[in-house]
Amino acid sequence: MVPPSQTNTIDFDAAKLRRLGFTGSRSLPLRPASLAELRQQLNLQLQTSLDAERILSLFFREVQRLVPLNALTYLHCAHDLRLELGERAPHSAGYRLSHKGEYLGELTFRRQQRFADEELVQLESLLACLLFPLRNALLYRNALQSALRDPLTDTGNRIAMDQVLQREVELARRSLQPLSVLMLDIDHFKQINDSHGHVQGDEVLKAVALTLKNQLRNVDMVFRYGGEEFLVLLSNTCREAAALVGERLRHAVMEMQCLIVGRPVEVSISLGCASLLPGESCESLLHRADNALYVAKREGRNRLTMAG
Ligand code: GH3
Ligand code: MG
Ligand code: MG
Repeated sequence: MVPPSQTNTIDFDAAKLRRLGFTGSRSLPLRPASLAELRQQLNLQLQTSLDAERILSLFFREVQRLVPLNALTYLHCAHDLRLELGERAPHSAGYRLSHKGEYLGELTFRRQQRFADEELVQLESLLACLLFPLRNALLYRNALQSALRDPLTDTGNRIAMDQVLQREVELARRSLQPLSVLMLDIDHFKQINDSHGHVQGDEVLKAVALTLKNQLRNVDMVFRYGGEEFLVLLSNTCREAAALVGERLRHAVMEMQCLIVGRPVEVSISLGCASLLPGESCESLLHRADNALYVAKREGRNRLTMAG
């Protein structure tokens, strides 16, 4: 086996930053720079990443070569992005970032002393270097997120499920914590489609997904497994607790006020529950949950069955 220090991988980001004179080491004092010099360097450095957090960290660090700061905070609610760098301080200068009408978040500089007018002019000039890299990073983040979500139900898709399940199984194994899954399927969904049409069927699917997410503390753990099947991943949850969650979901779906063309439709789900066994693979865990779901269907639907 090759020791990690001798592998042939190159971190192009790090290599490029080094070439541009940015070592990334926190211990080195920052070399002061003029506004023109800093703008030129920022224009190069901020292009080296598509990660919004990394870009903002770089920006925060570099700006301090010209204007001393204690903190930088950034907030973009629609992107679920919130970043706090440094330590909070009483004086602030806040900016609403936008480019050609496109909203790019709120950025605030903070520090112990008031900002002088000249410093604000410098900060605004440096912010201009941030706009394009930040916009590209937000676009990239959007693309990554939509590649992992199911557009109809706004739950995780199969790609996300495979990644998260693998990660959670490894975490549960290492930390000796329990992990459970619920595989659930809408009962007689074909009848809903046949009686009311596919469009109304889609509305029912969305309503079920929303009900599931509203019942769970971590909405990121609901995945659309197939047509009208969902997988709920319950980390740090033992068998008994998972069964309780499953029953809560089943009741919530039953109590859902689902109207199609003004008339109520009854919707129910069946569930299979399985908890990770020592040394068990993701595939085996899913397989056991699926078998339990099959039993729930066979035994009459609108019920939860525990995997053997
Ligand atoms: P069971 O209780 O055994 O689960 O019966 P079911 O009718 O729900 O199961 P079946 O597998 O026979 O039918 C599932 C239906 O779900 C068939 C398919 O057309 C429908 N379906 C799958 N994906 C979608 C979707 O995205 N939108 C809509 N409207 N229907 C879908
Ligand atoms: Mg079904
Ligand atoms: Mg099905």
